[in-house]
Amino acid sequence: MFDLDKFVRPNVRLLTPYSSARDDYKGKEGIFLDANENPFGTLNRYPDPYQNELKKVVSRIKGIPAENIFLGNGSDEIIDLSFRIFCNPGTDKALTFTPSYGMYQVSAAVNDIKMITIPLDENFQIDLKSLTPALSDKNLKLILICSPNNPTGNCMNRVTLERIIYRFSGIVLIDEAYIDFADNYSMKDSLGRYPNLIVMQTFSKAYGLASVRVGIAFASEEIVRYFNKVKPPYNISTVNQKTILRRIANRSYFNGQVRKIRSERNRMAVDLKKIRIVKKVWPSDANFLLVKVDDADAIYNYLADNKIIVRNRNSLAKNCLRITIGTKRENDRLLKALKEKEL
Ligand SMILES: *Cc1c(COP(=O)(O)O)cnc(C)c1O
Repeated sequence: MFDLDKFVRPNVRLLTPYSSARDDYKGKEGIFLDANENPFGTLNRYPDPYQNELKKVVSRIKGIPAENIFLGNGSDEIIDLSFRIFCNPGTDKALTFTPSYGMYQVSAAVNDIKMITIPLDENFQIDLKSLTPALSDKNLKLILICSPNNPTGNCMNRVTLERIIYRFSGIVLIDEAYIDFADNYSMKDSLGRYPNLIVMQTFSKAYGLASVRVGIAFASEEIVRYFNKVKPPYNISTVNQKTILRRIANRSYFNGQVRKIRSERNRMAVDLKKIRIVKKVWPSDANFLLVKVDDADAIYNYLADNKIIVRNRNSLAKNCLRITIGTKRENDRLLKALKEKEL
């Protein structure tokens, strides 16, 4: 039997959470004199702390019960809360792979958690053999895996992921920020089998709502309860909850954008390979391409001088740029600039 409480920090386990006015009285109608709100205006009331209406809709589109859903102020809040719930500052450790999303290491450092980093293999996959010794470290509490991975663009092998979740006795967080651009199935559909699994998605990428700041965690009811216990009471504004609801209602808009971005991604992979200064383009399941060039710093600066801004990943992956897929017109401008650099 998996005993979640064993992996929760004692202060969090014993915490009496803040009880908001909206926790005490759950009705919708009435004269509300309980939360020191201003009675005038339209944005004068505090938001629903548990985003029940939004969760109902997220539940329907994602096929996961609302009780297994937590919404954060961006995925960044979910990452931070995971460290705060499961890792004791100063003693516990977390583990991730490189190259991957930089926020994991920053968030660990903020929480004073030591981060073990294991390099991905030459295909940017997880090498189980190099991971195995770390799995028996008693202080290792949390493993963070990005799939599809930023900045390499590939999905991690599903069998490897399942082996890690099965073998590791702590918590595994799988970050699927880019899953809507991939052909692969989400790991959220395995949630029932793994009480130690958290699957994270976001409205920032495929849904085109990065400015709204809403991330999603799918996990056991028990884990969701701990997220709710530790989060700030009103972590998602009413305006943002409503914005997401409006966007979800327009399903065809979403499908059309994802289709366009994927087809542009596939075209760009072909066209970039025809350019002499491009040395390699990795296959991508995301909305960006990892591209190796002859001199990443020089090409980054040259593009920036031409008002085309890409992400220089030279420090993470030698001579690599991460190029986000834009509109057809924007992508054509990039190709043109790179061809002109060739001349
Ligand atoms: C963009 C991105 C996110 C999304 O973060 P939000 O805080 O939800 O905007 C999460 N994980 C990775 C790996 C990303 O690249």
